Amino acid sequence: KHNPEGDAQFLEDESTKIFARKVADHYSARTNQTLEERENSPIIHLKKLNNWIKSVLIQLYTRRGDAVLDLACGKGGDLIKWDKAKIGYYVGIDIAEGSIEDCRTRYNGDADHHQRRKRFTFPARLICGDCYEIRLDKVLEDDAPFDVCSCQFAMHYSWSTEARARQALANVSALLRPGGTFIGTMPDANVIVKKLREAEGLVFGNSVYWIRFDEEFSEKKFKSSSPFGIKYKFHLEDAVDCPEWIVPFHVFKSLAEEYDLELVFVKNSHEFVHEYMKKPEYVELMRRLGALGDGNQDQSTLSQDEWEVAYLYLAFVLRKRGQPDRT
Ligand code: SAM
Repeated sequence: KHNPEGDAQFLEDESTKIFARKVADHYSARTNQTLEERENSPIIHLKKLNNWIKSVLIQLYTRRGDAVLDLACGKGGDLIKWDKAKIGYYVGIDIAEGSIEDCRTRYNGDADHHQRRKRFTFPARLICGDCYEIRLDKVLEDDAPFDVCSCQFAMHYSWSTEARARQALANVSALLRPGGTFIGTMPDANVIVKKLREAEGLVFGNSVYWIRFDEEFSEKKFKSSSPFGIKYKFHLEDAVDCPEWIVPFHVFKSLAEEYDLELVFVKNSHEFVHEYMKKPEYVELMRRLGALGDGNQDQSTLSQDEWEVAYLYLAFVLRKRGQPDRT
């Protein structure tokens, strides 16, 4: 028997799966770069700046011995940062098979062309899976609870439907201990929507990125309809080329509260840089990473266009309600 509502639900589920696959295939296909390729990237300073932001977040909110859950861990680009924070245990999950394979290779220390380094000091478990589709509490029953959960440049991939956005937050909440911290970075919807308003049509960008909204997008619909599933295509030179979804931060904040996750702070990347560059230890870290050059004449620095891309992102910290049961 014909069932229009059932059909619509089926079509929505199918298209959600197709888009999740598109995202996974895109990241899976991105091969590891040689050091030389990386240094020649048109967004090398942006990558370094983003590494600095993630390092600051990790240093601020991680304590020695912490158990860490890294949602959408990618190729394990943050493993070294966690090692420096002297964590005790690490679980990384990513939907892209290729990225988890690279992450495993990096963790095991072989064929790592980025650096010859000693083994990581913490034990790790690396899993390929969709963090926004499935309940992770059963999968990670023996690993939880975690002291810190991190989701870097990936939370917005959960915003394709309300069910996925909820599953993402339910997973974080179920796996963090009371008082545990959720740190992350994602696109800043306020900035993206402001830029869209200023644009002539549905596309805007600069020499290193562009964002294109779907034809059916309209400001009126945006204001009146569901805050989930607002899709755009994001292209960032030498990094990203896939569908993404707007995450209105006030909705994210109130949905997170439903899952006992309270906002500690949210800052646009520009504000984050200005704030933490007041602290000498982070200025020194920035100098070591080379994101802003090192003051030396022949060392190039972040371009205006890269700085504009940084403005598209924000950093957030949430805390799981409840009293920590350790001091
Ligand atoms: N967190 C890593 C970092 O900061 O280097 C990777 C960031 S990359 C921009 C986004 C990552 O999100 C990709 O590795 C992608 O495969 C992952 N991802 C996207 N959707 C996902 C999902 N549903 N479940 C798990 N990982 C997902």
